[in-house]
Amino acid sequence: MKDHFIQIKEVPIKNNCPICYNNDGLFLTFKQRIIHTDLYKHITSEISHDLKCKTCNSAIYPVQWTDEFEQVFEYHKKALTPYKSSVKLKRASWILLTALLLVIVSILTLTIYHRL
Ligand SMILES: [Zn+2]
Repeated sequence: MKDHFIQIKEVPIKNNCPICYNNDGLFLTFKQRIIHTDLYKHITSEISHDLKCKTCNSAIYPVQWTDEFEQVFEYHKKALTPYKSSVKLKRASWILLTALLLVIVSILTLTIYHRL
C-alpha cells in the first residue's frame, strides 16, 4: 500500500515570517491524502496543510501562528476545492471480480444442469 499526499493548492501569504521577518516568503500549502494499493486508488477526504517560509526555509508550526495567520488560513480553507473523495478499482480488481463472477455462474449452471 502506498500512501501519499498530493498538493492541491499553494497560496502566498502576505504576512511577516515569525523567523526571518521577511514578508514575501510565506506559503500556505494544502495537500490531500491518496492511498494506492494494487487493487484500488482511494482519494480520501483528509486534507493536511503546512505553512512554510521559502526565504529562510523554515516550517511555521501552528503554535507560532498569530491570529492573523489563523484568519488567513480559515479563509483559504473555506475557498478550497479538494478532489472528490472516491475509490477507483484498478484493472487487477476488475479481473478478480470477473473471474469470481465466472466461477459463480459456472457453479450455478452446473447446479441447474444436475437438477434436470
Ligand atoms: Zn522566514
